Amino acid sequence: MRSGFRNISIFTVVAVLLFGILQVEISKSSDSEGLTRWQIHDMSRPQPPVVTPGDVSTQAHPVRPPSDAIVLFDGKSLSAWQGADGGPAIWKVGTGYFEVVPKTGDIYTKQAFGDCQVHVEWMAPPWTPGNTYDPGNSGVYLASLYEVQIVDSVHSKIYADGQAAAMYGQYPPLVNVCLAPGLWQSYDIVFHDARFDKGGKLLRPAFVTVFHNGVLVQDHVELTGPTAHKQRPPYQPHPERMPLRLQDHNYPVRFRNVWVRELSESQ
Ligand code: MG
Repeated sequence: MRSGFRNISIFTVVAVLLFGILQVEISKSSDSEGLTRWQIHDMSRPQPPVVTPGDVSTQAHPVRPPSDAIVLFDGKSLSAWQGADGGPAIWKVGTGYFEVVPKTGDIYTKQAFGDCQVHVEWMAPPWTPGNTYDPGNSGVYLASLYEVQIVDSVHSKIYADGQAAAMYGQYPPLVNVCLAPGLWQSYDIVFHDARFDKGGKLLRPAFVTVFHNGVLVQDHVELTGPTAHKQRPPYQPHPERMPLRLQDHNYPVRFRNVWVRELSESQ
């Protein structure tokens, strides 16, 4: 009897474990692709929305945003932005661009975003000979917290995880495709934000993909937490939607053609 009971117990344990693993696998696939919701080649599956693509940017002409983009700078006004105190963004606006006014502080979008695609074009200021630390330092902070570094990596000899297109303090770019000061360059970013439960427990870390001047430089990297200098602090719970933030790091970096596409769950 004892032997039979032991056999039944082992069988039960194995069955429970297998069932649990199966449930996890089903959960994973339904979470990621929706493959359990639709049959292959299912004609009732919704078609992707039609979007008119943008153009390729040139030095003379900024790229035309896709038709469903939320344009955050129209070439004339910083009305989509504000300072940290909620007052007006007081960076300089020139013809078709805006520029960091050193020591006026970072600026934030008035609108908050969750998972999103971000396009930013930027230009480093003229290089001051001898400055090999962080010439042209600025940054694009996803969800106001996670910095895609901006710096003149043609001249900077800063640590690798502080170069242009680094996820600052975490991941250097895969390659250095930085252009010289005075030339427009682009970041195209795909951001999947962290998720927290109602108690503030981390459910999912943030992931980032970045193309710098059209070249892949961050390949779906998993962030360790928010950006900080000389440290990697853990995640702190924050809302699912947060403003985009641009950094004033004391250099007159220019920006143009900033837009965001919000990402939704695929069907
Ligand atoms: Mg920076």
